[in-house]
Amino acid sequence: MSVLHDVPTQQSPAPTAPPPPASPRLVAAMVRGQRIAVPCPTGWCVVDHATENLTDLSDLAHYGARISLPVPQFSGGPEHVLIAYMAQWPFARDEHRGLPYVALEACDSGDVTEIRKTAGRAFADQALAHIVAFASLVEQLPEDAERAAV
Ligand SMILES: [Zn+2]
Repeated sequence: MSVLHDVPTQQSPAPTAPPPPASPRLVAAMVRGQRIAVPCPTGWCVVDHATENLTDLSDLAHYGARISLPVPQFSGGPEHVLIAYMAQWPFARDEHRGLPYVALEACDSGDVTEIRKTAGRAFADQALAHIVAFASLVEQLPEDAERAAV
């Protein structure tokens, strides 16, 4: 099987309206020892807010599960790259105005880029093109069985 067949193809966005965002659920959070109810995004936040004891409500953050691409290395185990997860600081007064974004780290360095939808789509297009180019390089190799016979 060709690696190229395993790469999902880029599809054009459907001309229909996007589905409405999922309603947030109310969950318990602790701020200065006080139990309060806060909205938490349904479907992606994996934080147990009740186990935190925040100093200020602006410190409350929603985080989704992390995804990454394990890259084999010559020595040692794989290095995980393209680490990404959903994030939102709903009560922070920053450039995101409390809106969710995708946090992206090239490698596990802690240097996080905060990406919104348009930039995320552009990066995803670049990453897909890179993977297709990588798969093209791989297809230029002789089959493993052929190489072993040489
Ligand atoms: Zn949450």
